Amino acid sequence: MIRFFRILSTYSPLGLIRYFRMRLMGRELLVTGSCNCCGDCCRKINLEGARGWLRSDREFADMVNDFPEYERFVVSGKDSQGFLQFSCTWLTEKGGCQNHDNRLPLCRKFPDKSLHFCGGMLPDGCGYSISEVKPFKKYLDDFTGIEGEQ
Ligand code: SF4
Ligand code: SF4
Repeated sequence: MIRFFRILSTYSPLGLIRYFRMRLMGRELLVTGSCNCCGDCCRKINLEGARGWLRSDREFADMVNDFPEYERFVVSGKDSQGFLQFSCTWLTEKGGCQNHDNRLPLCRKFPDKSLHFCGGMLPDGCGYSISEVKPFKKYLDDFTGIEGEQ
């Protein structure tokens, strides 16, 4: 039940549609591909705080207060859903990270599947893709079901 309330409070309306569509269709998310080091994910970042994806400067100020390591980010605008977008001051002109060993967990985990449920999408040209797919086990169950009928 707690998980359900967290989903309602942190997912965006589009993310909720994606979540319930996947549940209904018995699908799961699959991340494929690899990084081509374009640096675009460091230019358009959504940040998630304790109460969901950040929407206001006030929420960002609170986050920096609690976690000073987030000071490296600067607000660059808002996305189509009203969430704040940030760029990172650690990004070099060549598209690399100036302190790669000390990048944040969110950078290490990118692209995290939660991106799909905040209604976000990968930057154009990203070497990864996130897709809603039928789980392998479901293929297997369907196949063994057909075999059993024969
Ligand atoms: S946008 Fe994708 S390909 Fe580009 S740096 Fe980020 S993870 Fe790598
Ligand atoms: S810390 Fe490095 S990897 Fe993380 S957003 Fe900034 S430039 Fe990108």
